[in-house]
Amino acid sequence: MKHFDVIVVGGGHAGTEAAHASARMGAKTALVTLRRDAIGVMSCNPAIGGLGKGHLVREIDAMDGVMGVVTDRAGIQFRLLNRRKGPAVQGPRAQADRKLYREAMLELTELQENLSIIEGEAVDLLTLDGRVSGVTLADGSEVRCRSVILTTGTFLRGVIHIGDKSYPGGRMGDRPSVPLADRLDSLALPLGRLKTGTPPRLNGKTIDWSILESQPGDDDPVVFSFMNTKPFAKQISCGITHTNEATHQIIRDNLSRSAMYGGHIEGVGPRYCPSIEDKIVRFADKTSHQIFLEPEGLDDDTVYPNGISTSLPEDVQTDYVRSIRGLEQVEILQPGYAIEYDYVDPRSLDAYLQVRNQPGLYLAGQINGTTGYEEAAAQGLVAGLNAAASALEKEAVEFSRTQSYIGVMVDDLITRGVTEPYRMFTSRAEFRLSLRADNADQRLTPLAMRIGCVSDKRITQFSIKQEALVHGRGKLDALSLTPKEAIEAGFKVNQDGQRRSAFSFLSFPDITFEDLKAVFPELSEIESPIADQLSKDALYANYLVRQDRDIAAMQRDEAWKIPSDFEYGSLSGLSNELRLKLSKAQPSTLGQAGRVDGVTPAALALILAKLRQSR
Ligand code: FAD
Repeated sequence: MKHFDVIVVGGGHAGTEAAHASARMGAKTALVTLRRDAIGVMSCNPAIGGLGKGHLVREIDAMDGVMGVVTDRAGIQFRLLNRRKGPAVQGPRAQADRKLYREAMLELTELQENLSIIEGEAVDLLTLDGRVSGVTLADGSEVRCRSVILTTGTFLRGVIHIGDKSYPGGRMGDRPSVPLADRLDSLALPLGRLKTGTPPRLNGKTIDWSILESQPGDDDPVVFSFMNTKPFAKQISCGITHTNEATHQIIRDNLSRSAMYGGHIEGVGPRYCPSIEDKIVRFADKTSHQIFLEPEGLDDDTVYPNGISTSLPEDVQTDYVRSIRGLEQVEILQPGYAIEYDYVDPRSLDAYLQVRNQPGLYLAGQINGTTGYEEAAAQGLVAGLNAAASALEKEAVEFSRTQSYIGVMVDDLITRGVTEPYRMFTSRAEFRLSLRADNADQRLTPLAMRIGCVSDKRITQFSIKQEALVHGRGKLDALSLTPKEAIEAGFKVNQDGQRRSAFSFLSFPDITFEDLKAVFPELSEIESPIADQLSKDALYANYLVRQDRDIAAMQRDEAWKIPSDFEYGSLSGLSNELRLKLSKAQPSTLGQAGRVDGVTPAALALILAKLRQSR
């Protein structure tokens, strides 16, 4: 019988990241997945990153993960979103060549030391002394381990809907995962139903590109991995078109035939990724919606029309798509569809993504009620590091809200749960001025080095950069001007008599590093990526002082650990409603308790008093 430290079930975005993270930790890891050639498949849009999501990818990369590296290899159009806004809310995004992405992910997975791929369907979980200790495959074979991570995405009891037709499926072309869902039932895990949808895929050869607006990528592409400086593949443009009154009328006339509006689906869908039916109903006064026509690959004519996901019947899809400018003659290669699937209420997990009452079982990705490749991969990283740490009897790895978007997401999921598919946004992070995409390596690579999941090459590169930043900062702090000298240099500053360092001049939005170099030529020795990073740090430096106080307050609350057998019932003064909510949520720190829906400062004071008593 085969024996591993960690088994990861599912080779999607959570699964690959989990398997790599576990293997990098030194754990002997198996990736069990339905099809080897489907490792890294992008089920929906061929794009990685975006607002909030780009931050997650950068953080995964800072921990030496694979998503950023693979995206740089497969990216065919890179754009930095919110370029005109502050660096804290800018989000790197890349459209990927679907085939290149899959091939690069498979190649890296095959090359990863300590990692084996097993093709097969996991149908059951094995247990030993109350701990999950392996999986049974559909062919009856058993694979043993010390920790299992389930990352089965939309496959658990998945049902595909197109109009009034529906059939079981994990995604188009794949069978659902039913026996495993039944097994989760037997563990009494709280399961719910969610849904998501995808648009029809179009034949690019039948689109009239000549009449459409074209959108190129950025001239200076911002890539994902801190190890890379530019994209690997040829870069291309997308087309832009719009729905119109005729499109909307066709959709309105057929709403009752849509799976989502015809009452065939009970699951809740992603509010921030609405179907075209949703858009027509919810934004009834809008006469047009933008559509990005995104080529799916360099040698692939398939085009992904971003913005018109649907579960209307195929004949209606053809009608409404052909009412759109440039698509009058278009051929649909694969119809759009909706999928409904089981998810596990993530409040049943701890901060390491381990099921609270089931040692050895970890869950990551869409199975936890999230949506998106990046959210899935980030959870995969957390579960992979921790399943390996547990199997190797090392210290668990926790990501905090004060340190990373990954920490924000895990904390949101495990304390608040989900009522709709959870997606990352910059607005979810209270400390977003310091949790920037550009400084993810500064925030997380030291942690990765400490726990030992990072390659020597990255350590060397990170250390060189770190030294350059310290040196550059030292220079900027040492150089200064009086207000009079500053005015003479052409800088607009208050005549407050205060001498300012070159670093503090950079906090003025209209003073650039180039302006400073004109005054202090010695700054020319600072290379431009380092100058760029220091300028971003300086821009927020004044705000960060206040934010640091808030971070310290949160860290104080996080330091108060709440034992898992804490009796909320014994707290007189706490309402029954809060007793129930807190007992269900089982927050592991005072900070987490404060973020449970409805918990008031007074309730926190009661919990704190009790914790103090038992110290
Ligand atoms: P997946 O990528 O689904 O991977 C699951 C893996 O598990 C697969 O490799 C599968 O083969 C394997 N597997 C399943 N069961 C078993 C088993 N029993 N044994 C072995 N292997 C198993 N995201 C967005 O952000 N926006 C969208 O609009 C959007 N629309 C979507 C529309 C559709 C129709 C679908 C299917 C997905 C959509 N997504 C969307 C979601 C996106 O695809 C997922 O969020 C992401 O792929 C989740 O990653 P994952 O790793 O959790 O699961």
